[in-house]
Amino acid sequence: MRLTFAVAATFNLNIMSNENKSIHEFDFSLICEYFSSIERQGPGSPEVTIKALSFIDHLTNESRIADVGCGTGGQTMVMAQHVPGQITGIDLFPDFISLFNINAVHLNLQDRVKGIIGSMDNLPFQDEELDLIWSEGAIYNIGFERGLKEWWKFLKNGGFIAVSEVSWFTEERPAEINDFWLDAYPEIDTIPNKVAQMQNAGYIPVALFILPENCWTEHFYAPQVAAQEAFLKKYAGNQAAEELVANERREALLYSKYKSYYGYVFYIGKKV
Ligand code: SAH
Repeated sequence: MRLTFAVAATFNLNIMSNENKSIHEFDFSLICEYFSSIERQGPGSPEVTIKALSFIDHLTNESRIADVGCGTGGQTMVMAQHVPGQITGIDLFPDFISLFNINAVHLNLQDRVKGIIGSMDNLPFQDEELDLIWSEGAIYNIGFERGLKEWWKFLKNGGFIAVSEVSWFTEERPAEINDFWLDAYPEIDTIPNKVAQMQNAGYIPVALFILPENCWTEHFYAPQVAAQEAFLKKYAGNQAAEELVANERREALLYSKYKSYYGYVFYIGKKV
């Protein structure tokens, strides 16, 4: 999940291949439980979602929007409160989709916002059906370049794609953080390279911006502190749970140490 990227790597393994399924199954449900308890499953904020939306025009009540890797829907609900149209949230994890649909009902958005279980490598849309594809902190599960290319066909001509993706801010960085990320997500790259990939995939790069630090600190790592305490108490002595929390804490520490070298970037493109 846009979560912890050490864990994200485990997630990829679990999701995208069935190998070693039994070994990882337990870790996997632990990861889901851990992240179900917080509002966002990756760095982001309502302000950032609204800012990214400001670059997208022509949405109407008839517009069809997909939020891919929606998690429990933190950003989807914000989107629904700011733009018209029908929104489908898609996530691989049934528990996240259950929470997503409960959240939609609580906000009285259930007529316009529906969560469904599905995988981003096999999206259930028709060619040229969508006006907007949204994905915050989730496209890394399929890979930025592959996701942009494969999802292109689902967009109408002139439709938009908006994805947030971890990116390097500099050409060079200290070995510790370089190695951490190359292990967790080898596709991490510099902003100009990501923009070139977007262009090569058939989109006009319309806008990009770096997510502010509070998306990581206030909205992502801080809510985990209480969740970690509760989790460790519940799973006292459980190695997988302890490792999960240790990984999360390590990731948060690395972020505070190396945040000038990397971060999340929102990339917005228009299909041509
Ligand atoms: N967009 C949410 C969640 C980001 S975490 C937010 O910003 O808070 C990444 C999400 O991708 C998780 O909810 C995870 O369950 C989902 N995911 C991982 N692999 C997936 C796949 N193959 N297809 C669909 N969703 C997937």
